[in-house]
Amino acid sequence: MGHSPRTRPCPLCAGTARGLLFCRDSWDVVECASCSMVYLAQEIPYSTQLDEHEFADSYVREHQRRKQKHPLLLAISGRTRKLKPEIGDRLLAQTLRWWPAAKGGKLLDFGCGDGKFLEKAAQYFAVTGVEISPRLAQMAAARVPGARIIRAPITEAALPAGAFDVVTQFSVLEHEWRPLDALRAAHRALAPAGITVLKVPNHASWNRHIMRADWCGYRLPDHCNYFTPRTLAAMLRSAGFTPLPGSLFDRFPTSDSLWLAARKM
Ligand SMILES: [Zn+2]
Repeated sequence: MGHSPRTRPCPLCAGTARGLLFCRDSWDVVECASCSMVYLAQEIPYSTQLDEHEFADSYVREHQRRKQKHPLLLAISGRTRKLKPEIGDRLLAQTLRWWPAAKGGKLLDFGCGDGKFLEKAAQYFAVTGVEISPRLAQMAAARVPGARIIRAPITEAALPAGAFDVVTQFSVLEHEWRPLDALRAAHRALAPAGITVLKVPNHASWNRHIMRADWCGYRLPDHCNYFTPRTLAAMLRSAGFTPLPGSLFDRFPTSDSLWLAARKM
């Protein structure tokens, strides 16, 4: 396959004792024996990842594979998706729920992709994006002319300390080889009492228990962290955040997504 994977310790507690949940194409999904964090046991460098495992390619591959194995379930989930509000609007609504529009301020978006969310957020905030993919960073810069787009991995981006009111992390922490470092970077970048709003796949969902290794949240090796409400809250606390009461929206096992907001104390 061309990559040379390294063994990865638990991204939450740094432990190395773990149990194997399943293996696919030589990738091991494991559960930490100390803290129950579920994660990908191998790690590949960012550069290799960009060359060989572009996010979009792996999405198409997984979609095709699931379509063959579970045509009915996929058809149902495809239909439900059309009933949901446009995703960018939902991300903005969740953000404004924890940081009212009237307060305004500076927003930093980790993993801003092609800038669809930044474009909406720019109506209320001065916006900055961090994006690892050069192609997507270029699209974001073109889409949101007033935005500053930093082209780097989150954990290597040069960010001003204490400069932001809100850090958004939508569908990004599950991709980070060092998610705790990413949360610490968010913590440093935030002003006191600033907030972060996150969305990740929910490893505690019923759908995951039913679909097992064929669950839509498993994308190997793109998704290397698999959070439950408990492990996400624990990692946020380790980074110095306090999860906000009532912010575990969609935490119920019926949802494949997990939302959480936390404050820098
Ligand atoms: Zn652990």
